[in-house]
Amino acid sequence: MDWNNPEEVRAYRREWKKKHKEKSAADCRKYYERHKDKEKARHALYHQEHREEVLLKMKARHAKNREKELADHKRYHDENIEKERQYRIAHTELLRRKTVEAKYGLTPKEHDALLIRQNNLCAFQHCSKTINLSSDIDHDYKTGKVRGILCRGHNVALGTFEKLNPECLIDAYQYIRGCPPL
Ligand SMILES: [Zn+2]
Repeated sequence: MDWNNPEEVRAYRREWKKKHKEKSAADCRKYYERHKDKEKARHALYHQEHREEVLLKMKARHAKNREKELADHKRYHDENIEKERQYRIAHTELLRRKTVEAKYGLTPKEHDALLIRQNNLCAFQHCSKTINLSSDIDHDYKTGKVRGILCRGHNVALGTFEKLNPECLIDAYQYIRGCPPL
């Protein structure tokens, strides 16, 4: 091989890369790590100067591999569906706990203790609805003090009565039971 002939050298390198794919990729990675900033700047400049061309190439590549890319995404999603679900749950829970602490001053420990104390049931004795971390926290509007955890229906109803006139709760009870007015 004539080392002074650039065409021949390029062809030789191409062949070598084909034959030693893994080693070549590892060398590339090593080189990139060592010259990160320089390489990033070079790529950015190339993109700037060849913007249209790069976009067209990208579009063409996506179009060509569209089916495969979609299938890959779907496979990844299917394979990790449970992991993703767990991740979402873990983070939703964390977020909820943070909101509760900020809004009601109820620490995660106190929140858990309250749920246990209520046996995971609505604070109203005659209600059998179960409650959990995301259930409504009932608090005194005036003092802000947490009174308990209620099921959604009871918290909404209580809130309405409390804001209008709590005495009406007695009226409401007597009214639906058909008792004569006091
Ligand atoms: Zn209830």
